[in-house]
Amino acid sequence: MKLRTRLIFSFLLMVLLPIFLAAAVYLTVNHTRTTKGKTAGQFYFSNNVDDLAAYTDDEVRTLEELARTFPDYFLNSDSQKQANDNLAKKNSYLVIRVGTKIVYDGASAGVHPQYNKLPMYGKLSNGDMLIIDLQTETGILKEIDFGKEDGKRGQAFVITPAGSIVRGGGSVALYYVSWFVVIMIITGLVTSFLLYRSIMRKVSLMQAATEKIREGDLESRIEVRGRDELSQLAESMERMRSRLLSDATQKVADEDSNRKFLSNITHDLKTPLTSIIGYSEGILDGIAADPERQKKYVGIIHSKAVDMNELLNELSEFSKLDMHEIPYHFEKIDAIEYFDDFAQETSEELSGDGADFSYKNTLEPETEIMADPAQIKRVLHNLVSNALKYCRDDVKLSVSLRVLDAGDFIQAEFEDNGKGISPEDVPHVFERLFRADKSRNTGIRGSGIGLSIAKKIIEDHGGQIWVTSRINEGSTFYFLLKKVSEESQDTEDM
Ligand code: ADP
Repeated sequence: MKLRTRLIFSFLLMVLLPIFLAAAVYLTVNHTRTTKGKTAGQFYFSNNVDDLAAYTDDEVRTLEELARTFPDYFLNSDSQKQANDNLAKKNSYLVIRVGTKIVYDGASAGVHPQYNKLPMYGKLSNGDMLIIDLQTETGILKEIDFGKEDGKRGQAFVITPAGSIVRGGGSVALYYVSWFVVIMIITGLVTSFLLYRSIMRKVSLMQAATEKIREGDLESRIEVRGRDELSQLAESMERMRSRLLSDATQKVADEDSNRKFLSNITHDLKTPLTSIIGYSEGILDGIAADPERQKKYVGIIHSKAVDMNELLNELSEFSKLDMHEIPYHFEKIDAIEYFDDFAQETSEELSGDGADFSYKNTLEPETEIMADPAQIKRVLHNLVSNALKYCRDDVKLSVSLRVLDAGDFIQAEFEDNGKGISPEDVPHVFERLFRADKSRNTGIRGSGIGLSIAKKIIEDHGGQIWVTSRINEGSTFYFLLKKVSEESQDTEDM
């Protein structure tokens, strides 16, 4: 759930839960009323005349019972006082009339009834109530008749001044306000806790993950599920972690390759230098005494120096490419035309070397690539020269070039039937200064830079280069070059 949705949900919960709880309280209280009789609480809450009348029902019923059992009950002054005290608890009081004479009035000041307004005997049946005017306010009156014989016939009135009920309502209001406050506190606590828990769980997971990253542990994944903003943040952190991990891995690989490169270059420079030193010492020491031998030694020194020069030239070429010192001149090239020309040239060169060459181009007419023609030619020449260098002695060299469509790319495949590359060397042939051990030992001249330059050029063109090979059967070099898409053509035309 989104954080925004969760906040809306919490807000609704905060609004709806109190309503729900308040309704629950109200219903529970009402339920008590129907089963246990009416109490002050519900009395004020519902606040209609029936409810007001029912306020003293229990007391009136008890007094009726007493009057029935003891006919003189209301004539006894102790009973009168006791009954009045009981009624006072319900903010009511007792008035007793025997015949036409008021014998008891338990009212406090200001709420006495007007005696002449009290109902006549027999007018008000038991259980009924009457609203009457008291001195300063209105009240509710109920009547209990007693003493059926003449002379002792009397009426006991239970009078409840309405004002006292309304005044008593203050405490009831307090009662409901207290409930409301409790409900609000519960709601607040529940929603805050739910929100806090869902947010904090993710925050603490992310905190732990950041701590691990700070300590250098880039391997542990940050796993936070969900689609809210925090989960999205965690996803970004996870992407950052995996990027850092791959950068770190790449850095280690680069360092490794640099170390290898340094060790290779030391070796590749040292070997011809040792020969140069050896042969020049031979001349100096007079070992090569005759001119023929001297000529041979100088020849070797020259050839080693040429090798070193070539190696250093290629290295400097590579580093220029690497440091973007050689700018590319990209242009739109008709791929069919370009490869046709190259094939023509190569066919002549290879047939001059006694090798077979075949060429097949299955591209759609007018397929265009965006490339630097001189640099791509350099890649192709390197492949041709390698095919010539690493051919087998026992079979006639046969080379084929195929150019085909590969979706957004064109794919060139350059196949020879040469010595092949061993499976353990295949992953390394594009590394700087890599030469398969066999090539080093066969005396075939080379620097081990050519293919790394080819890889750099193809990758700078947004393509890829790779090789498949079988030892003693031959190798196939593949590379991809991006076609000029209709999209880029459109933007160019604009
Ligand atoms: P170089 O040819 O100067 O040694 P490259 O970078 O062009 O350097 O090639 C790297 C290595 O890959 C070569 O030393 C050789 O072992 C191997 N190699 C390249 N092309 C071929 C091929 N066509 N057949 C067999 N081995 C090859």
